[in-house]
Amino acid sequence: MKVLVINCGSSSLKFQLIDSESEQCIAKGLCERIGIDGSMITYSPAGGEKEKTVTPMPDHTEAIRLVLNALTNEKTGVVKNLEEIGAVGHRVVHGGEKFAESVIIDDDVIKEIEACSDLAPLHNPANLIGINACKKLMPNTPMVAVFDTAFHQTMPEKAYLYGLPYEYYEKYRVRRYGFHGTSHSYVSKRAAQVLGVPYESLKIIVCHLGNGASVSAVKNGKCVDTSMGLTPLEGLIMGTRSGDMDPAIMEYIAKKENLNMDQLINVLNKKSGVLGLSGNLSSDFRDIESGYFEGNPDAIRAMTTYCYHVAKYIGAYTAAMNGVDVICFTAGVGENGPLVRSLVCDYLGYLGITLDEELNNKRGEDIVITTPDSRTKVMTIPTNEELAIARETVALVK
Ligand code: ADP
Repeated sequence: MKVLVINCGSSSLKFQLIDSESEQCIAKGLCERIGIDGSMITYSPAGGEKEKTVTPMPDHTEAIRLVLNALTNEKTGVVKNLEEIGAVGHRVVHGGEKFAESVIIDDDVIKEIEACSDLAPLHNPANLIGINACKKLMPNTPMVAVFDTAFHQTMPEKAYLYGLPYEYYEKYRVRRYGFHGTSHSYVSKRAAQVLGVPYESLKIIVCHLGNGASVSAVKNGKCVDTSMGLTPLEGLIMGTRSGDMDPAIMEYIAKKENLNMDQLINVLNKKSGVLGLSGNLSSDFRDIESGYFEGNPDAIRAMTTYCYHVAKYIGAYTAAMNGVDVICFTAGVGENGPLVRSLVCDYLGYLGITLDEELNNKRGEDIVITTPDSRTKVMTIPTNEELAIARETVALVK
């Protein structure tokens, strides 16, 4: 079956058409600046030339219409007609406590996703726009929602509750949800597969380090803890997000800088993290890495603080699981940053970890990067959220 995977943001839309039998990507692309001047679509059929077309996209329905046109186009298309697309898988950011698994989308599911929008006001409405646009253009094609939060729904109460008045949980469902679940699930399963060990027998820590970053603890095939919380602002230091901090800092800075709550949250989401720590040098790890090697103190400060926080989470989750067998690095920084992996692993000698520096320098492979005598294994596993969404979609519509 050919599955169209859609990841719809407020002004962008990423797509991939995946053949579920071979698990290969047939074509992929991106619509940018939807609803803004200068919108464009990038389309890359597998083995073909990448095309970039600047064209008006007043809304997401038009963006999806252009995607479907590109896929069925006589010259560069990859399917003859839309009937060849067996199903659509949609990434949905917040499933609240309602969705612990992927589901076939119907009117009730749409209502439930709407109800979760309160918890993810920037993301869920955009995901819904993508769902509704596809429904309009492909009314007879089954669609599945795959939630970023679902994998983490197995966390026990002690891991998902905050030390707040319990009534906030009862009244408003204030709790830890966690995000990047599709990636944490895919990477932890893939690690077990590559090692040839049953998934249910392992204690795995997954470090998903991209622009957004989170860590999860996966014990016997189930997520038992994760670093992101009610929203994706908690946990690790990220590209531009602060991650964990003393909540009282908010009032202190609000008074000093004369900021209101919206402005403060904006600082924590967009001006903090590696960008803020490096004195606005960059949020991009390629710049931080090269600055670090050039001896730039701003880059060294950002890199050192970032890696220390990752190592602290690994320590915490080792305690949560009473041990760890495998630590996986994934996503933009985790997959491509040998320096980050190496600086993090410098703290992990107590786990019997020795990195093989040659293997640590490889990219794009599912590999163990520790020496054979290391007590705990460290792996680099490139994530593939689109493939994971396609698999979930096929499993439900078959
Ligand atoms: P997201 O999906 O959260 O937007 P990604 O997983 O694509 O993010 O990760 C983006 C991050 O990966 C950026 O900070 C980028 O600098 C980093 N990255 C990409 N390539 C490299 C590389 N070769 N070396 C170090 N970092 C890299």
